[in-house]
Amino acid sequence: VKTHGKNGYQFFDPAFYGAIRQRQQRERELQAAIDENQFVLHYQVRVCATTQRVVSLEALVRWNHPTAGLLYPDEFIPLAEETGMIVALGERVVDCVCAQIAAWSDDGCAPVPVSINVSSRQFNERDIHALFTRALARHGIPPDRVEVELTESTMIRDPERTSSHLHAMHALGIRLLVDDFGTGYSSLSMLQQLDFDMLKVDKSFTRRLGTDCQGEVLFAAIITMAHALGMKVVAEGVERPEQVEVLRRLHCDELQGYYIATPLDAKDVQAEIRRRRAA
Ligand code: C2E
Ligand code: CA
Ligand code: CA
Ligand code: CA
Repeated sequence: VKTHGKNGYQFFDPAFYGAIRQRQQRERELQAAIDENQFVLHYQVRVCATTQRVVSLEALVRWNHPTAGLLYPDEFIPLAEETGMIVALGERVVDCVCAQIAAWSDDGCAPVPVSINVSSRQFNERDIHALFTRALARHGIPPDRVEVELTESTMIRDPERTSSHLHAMHALGIRLLVDDFGTGYSSLSMLQQLDFDMLKVDKSFTRRLGTDCQGEVLFAAIITMAHALGMKVVAEGVERPEQVEVLRRLHCDELQGYYIATPLDAKDVQAEIRRRRAA
């Protein structure tokens, strides 16, 4: 065995098997989480840049793990995507959002739309349009109360298929947003052809505002072109008041980020909406 040197030894590396076992364990736990619906949604407001009123809420999933506590998407979404479990997890999220919208409506809350993140695997593998239609019908929700956020990579992977899904969603009345805009390789004109309503410009661009002139030039160009093509623009990751000032000056339509509000649970986010309406 020794003559096989390092490679032969590594093959029997107990740490390697430990990592595999740990991953299998996580997979089993994630499957249980889907079966038992251990997920909770937090909601982050998106506000109008001029009035500061809430125009939409972004649903952000958390896993209420039985022993590890509340886990954030970075800790389980990648595994869910690799294993394909994202499809079932995503169905849970859509159903949970629709149930929440119905509950808010029963409580007499203001009818604010909710934006749902859909990963590319989820978007392309299932009949996403049918899934949304069913969930909306089940909870009696009008389609204009729901928005969908997709990243540029979703469009690039399978443009034909994506395009037909997108047109079907749009025809239903669901608004479509491009998430993390600027980090992928799509062109604005392609996004316009695909019928997107809004670009959500990635945090990394927002971060540069207020300190860096080039960053401002870039952001201004995105906004001008998006508007010329009939799309609105939201800046994500707004963390400082100077960024709000710059974004207003550049005619950015909407804002989102910790400076506006952090993601909140279903109860606290309604208080945040009311606070802003009263202000
Ligand atoms: P994302 O869609 O880009 O969501 C924005 C992330 O940035 C959220 O992290 C949010 O909490 C965080 N954030 C908000 N404001 C600020 C800010 O001012 N500064 C900084 N640095 N961060 C801010 P979170 O909740 O951990 O979600 C991470 C990612 O997980 C999301 O990125 C999204 O890609 C994915 N995700 C979340 N929920 C779902 C879901 O239901 N389905 C799918 N497929 N993916 C989801
Ligand atoms: Ca998003
Ligand atoms: Ca984003
Ligand atoms: Ca349009």
